[in-house]
Amino acid sequence: MALIVAKFGGTSVASPERIQMVAKRLVAMKEAGNQVVAVVSAMGKTTDELVGLARAISKNPPKREMDRLLSTGEQVSMTLLAMAIEVLGHRSMSFSGRQAGIQTSDEHSKAKIELVHADRIKQALDAGCIPVVAGFQGIDKNGDITTLGRGGSDTTAGIGADVCEIYSDVDGVYTADPRVAPRARKLDAISYEDMLELSSAGSGVLQSRAVEFARKYKVVIHSRSAFSDSEGTYVKEADSSMENAVISGIAHDTSEVKITIRDVPDSTGIAARVFSALANNSVNVDMIIQNISEDGRTDITFTCPEADLENAKEATKAVIDAIGARNYVVDTNIAKVSVVGTGMKSSPGVSAKAFTALADANVNILLISTSPIRLSVVVAADQVELAVRALHTAFGLDSDKVFEETMLSAEELEAKKNKGR
Ligand code: ADP
Ligand code: ASP
Ligand code: MG
Repeated sequence: MALIVAKFGGTSVASPERIQMVAKRLVAMKEAGNQVVAVVSAMGKTTDELVGLARAISKNPPKREMDRLLSTGEQVSMTLLAMAIEVLGHRSMSFSGRQAGIQTSDEHSKAKIELVHADRIKQALDAGCIPVVAGFQGIDKNGDITTLGRGGSDTTAGIGADVCEIYSDVDGVYTADPRVAPRARKLDAISYEDMLELSSAGSGVLQSRAVEFARKYKVVIHSRSAFSDSEGTYVKEADSSMENAVISGIAHDTSEVKITIRDVPDSTGIAARVFSALANNSVNVDMIIQNISEDGRTDITFTCPEADLENAKEATKAVIDAIGARNYVVDTNIAKVSVVGTGMKSSPGVSAKAFTALADANVNILLISTSPIRLSVVVAADQVELAVRALHTAFGLDSDKVFEETMLSAEELEAKKNKGR
């Protein structure tokens, strides 16, 4: 008997009616002879609303309290789903991260799963139950609640499954976010490597840690729609059935900010001091640029998640005084756009093509970084759609069909667009 772990995202459990639809799906899977574990996100925009509440109280809320607060969202949806399954005549039990035995590191807001004591889930399965597990949360060695980073319910779903089904409001992984590039194409399959790079570059459809887990434990992820039965996208080991494109997709990320430290002395050890100060204050630095120095002084620019901004400011202020730099400037209106593909390794000219496409679309590039299988640029936030579409077209990814929105209301779509900005 296969063990299916089926994860339902916020939109899929946004209302009592949708929770009832999810319950029906789970019961159908069970009646088809499978063992089924459900993993749920918080209902609709709950997590964003909880973040908003905390920010109304404090500019930089303690991360321990934040995790405690955010974990409540999933605890609402899990209980409602368990009730809905019971109404359909099947047994169900809900489990918080602690009850599901999900032990994590103590890095609040970005904890890593270290161990899973799945005894209670196994007992529930053996008793014929459909266990419903709260996504996104675990418990650290001190007994404190932790969360796994935004989108972390995907990662919860990756633990211990034979088949991992991730249900959301899109019917699979596309060559770009189809709400930003309506000519994006759905992929039938994508390799772990390409998906990992797309997710790390900001494709919200699957959290990157979930893909890492799946690759490590060789679990195939099926990313599919909660609102239809159609086949989605399989994320798995690369094989000959996959498209042989140089570029597999374009990702964008509006959740980062840019900080420039001005007039930094250009001498040995300065970068080490700046980035050690940031690391010691738990700032996850992404891109870094240091300009050529004139008169022994230079500027250093870096990007980091907006969620780390207050910590970054604190560390930057302290280090500026210590190293004798002039000041620092924050720009929150930026977006990162990335061209991703393992085929890039053996195909020259990707940068030239990307920069030409952006120039033709009148998009100004603020920062550039590369890896063997990714090219990223930072642009002004209001140019992100233009940039994604221009790159999508330039790399021949456009489909003839225009993406049709799924069952989202106008309000939900608006909330999604604003998420992370
Ligand atoms: P859930 O709440 O179910 O976890 P998410 O909002 O986290 O759903 O992820 C689904 C969303 O990801 C889609 O609505 C879509 O706008 C966005 N998305 C971003 N990049 C992609 C991509 N390459 N393919 C499909 N969807 C994408
Ligand atoms: N509810 C959390 C979030 O909005 C986790 C998730 O949905 O995966 O990020
Ligand atoms: Mg998600």
